[in-house]
Amino acid sequence: MPFFICTACGMQYAESEKPPTQCVICEEERQYVPPSGQSWTTLEALSQSHMNSMREYEPGVTGIGAGFAIGQRALLVQTSGGNVLWDCVATLDAATVTAIKGLGGIQAIAISHPHFYTTMVEWARAFDCHIHLNAADRAWIMRPDPAIYLWEGDTFKLWDGVTLIRCGGHFEGGTVLHWAEGAGGRGVVCSGDILAVATDRKWLSFMRSYPNFIPLSQKEIERIGAAMAPFSFDVLYGHYFDRVIAKDAKSVLEKSIARYLGAINGTRGYS
Ligand SMILES: [Zn+2]
Ligand SMILES: [Zn+2]
Repeated sequence: MPFFICTACGMQYAESEKPPTQCVICEEERQYVPPSGQSWTTLEALSQSHMNSMREYEPGVTGIGAGFAIGQRALLVQTSGGNVLWDCVATLDAATVTAIKGLGGIQAIAISHPHFYTTMVEWARAFDCHIHLNAADRAWIMRPDPAIYLWEGDTFKLWDGVTLIRCGGHFEGGTVLHWAEGAGGRGVVCSGDILAVATDRKWLSFMRSYPNFIPLSQKEIERIGAAMAPFSFDVLYGHYFDRVIAKDAKSVLEKSIARYLGAINGTRGYS
């Protein structure tokens, strides 16, 4: 029986004879059902219609994606302790597996939030590794599997120098990855859209729903600031291929939090 994939958000569902009647991710306020209605595909069909591109951003950080569904882009992060697939994309074909195995394979998968769960179980099987998700978002797992590990609390260390940080915000379990050795030791954060790189690539923003323009509260923004405060980093990789803060990312985060709070409190205390 097929494992159907939603073409609008990329979520893969558990095995079923017929496609699900609706996509719970797209029906929810943080996503949307396209005007043309819901449609479904499978991994086999996707391998005929989409091909992954790979882009090396810096030594040890490679973007992977095919512009499918939301346009998700995953990152292969090659650290001294092992390779992490950060976030996930639905498209997984033989060429992608061969290319990643040539880069040392994947020792762990970690994902920021449910909009990137996609075909994570297929990836875990192809590379014989586990998937690390924050337990607060367990209700959004549409294809349960023994490869999925749920972590609780504020941080989770994959291994030395690679830490998952729970920021919340966009999703209750919203997570970013901190790689201390990245960017030549200046530190890297991979954030999905938990910390969303703005179109100008000079600022970050933070929302409950990006497509439906639902902001976060002051409390949620302050929680993000507190979660990130202990970590040093200079480069931040966001959710699409072109969404990167190339330098001073920590001060960009701090000034972006101040700008956001100024906007929602009517003080606009930024320049
Ligand atoms: Zn969907
Ligand atoms: Zn999202």
